[in-house]
Amino acid sequence: MGLFDNILESSAKVADKVAKVTGEYIDKGKDKLNELSLENELSKAQKQLGALVYALHKNGESNEELVNQYIEEIAKIEAQLEAARAEAKEEGTVVIDIEPEEVKAVKFCPTCGKDVDEDDAFCKYCGNAVK
Ligand SMILES: [Zn+2]
Repeated sequence: MGLFDNILESSAKVADKVAKVTGEYIDKGKDKLNELSLENELSKAQKQLGALVYALHKNGESNEELVNQYIEEIAKIEAQLEAARAEAKEEGTVVIDIEPEEVKAVKFCPTCGKDVDEDDAFCKYCGNAVK
């Protein structure tokens, strides 16, 4: 079932749909950006923890409290990242079959309103020219 299967109404309505799809894509882009910045934050924190543990060991010291604090921070970032990924995945299922190319490729017959392929010269339903 494509999103456009039931859209036989005016082109204004189609334009609304396309605008909505575009909006969803922008939201998705923001999520992706959030995900990337969290990934960045996570790898930075992990690197810092590694450097801390290394420095402590090298000097024959230990600071469990500080190490635990770092680990807690990292766990927090991991949880945020997981949530961001789950959200992006959820939204992904909403827009999965409406890639931007597909939106562009869908054309409607001006006579009968059915969707025709972009490069069709004539409507396969009513036979009228669609160009
Ligand atoms: Zn037609």
